[in-house]
Amino acid sequence: MTAVATPPGRVEVHGVHKSYAGVEVLSGIDLVVEPGTVTVVLGPSGSGKSTLLRSINHLEKVDRGFVALDGELVGYRRKGEKLHELQEKDLLRQRTRFGFVFQSFNLFPHLTALDNVVEAPVSAQGRPRREVEEEARALLARVGLAGREGAYPRQLSGGQQQRVAIARALAMRPAVLLFDEPTSALDPELVGEVLGVIEDLASSGTTMIVVTHEIGFARRAADRVVFMDSGRIVETGPPEQVLDAPRHERTKAFLARVL
Ligand code: ADP
Ligand code: MG
Repeated sequence: MTAVATPPGRVEVHGVHKSYAGVEVLSGIDLVVEPGTVTVVLGPSGSGKSTLLRSINHLEKVDRGFVALDGELVGYRRKGEKLHELQEKDLLRQRTRFGFVFQSFNLFPHLTALDNVVEAPVSAQGRPRREVEEEARALLARVGLAGREGAYPRQLSGGQQQRVAIARALAMRPAVLLFDEPTSALDPELVGEVLGVIEDLASSGTTMIVVTHEIGFARRAADRVVFMDSGRIVETGPPEQVLDAPRHERTKAFLARVL
């Protein structure tokens, strides 16, 4: 129970299809994210970005295709030719290898910043509280919140709450961090402090997939940019290629709107 998985974190998405009520929202996604790299996913609203992230850590069950983390299927195990769904406890263990940061922080309102960070490693990973607390303090300092350990979410700004949420995700020692529009709910003046923290993580070699409309962030932090539209990856490549010399009309049209 105390064995905690550690990085790398190679994500492989292969031929993933997903429909809701007969409407296909992911139409054959192929994507490989190498350990230690930052992938930024861009695309218009409704293009399937959140569904892709949620499929990667099996919050959504895909209809076709598969996701693997370090060569291990996510959500399933193989038995001969057949795939069997993982039991809940195995799925939960596997899911803790992904850290997920949402647009809407989702902190526990009745817990302090410190306890928000400490909760999951203790309850889900069975790690000793004292050890986790020490690590949580260091993580809060790392996201610029030293001295605010005792604050409740309502006493923190949106940017501070999101930084607690990032520390909370890191406390699980995930192999891969998934960010779904982490700054979209913030007042403009608070966006920079959160992006700064994510950029620090990026430069320290954390594997991450970041859905965002922040083109400047993509330029500074991404190893690779993926542009999605209508459930497909339309274009992918290094930021200077996709952002400065897009090949597809739909990428050009999207960039013209957000830049
Ligand atoms: P994005 O994050 O790029 O804005 P989403 O992945 O949230 O796109 O959504 C893609 C499409 O799937 C949208 O048309 C959305 O309305 C639809 N969708 C997403 N989640 C659900 C759901 N749980 N049930 C039905 N439709 C959904
Ligand atoms: Mg979304």
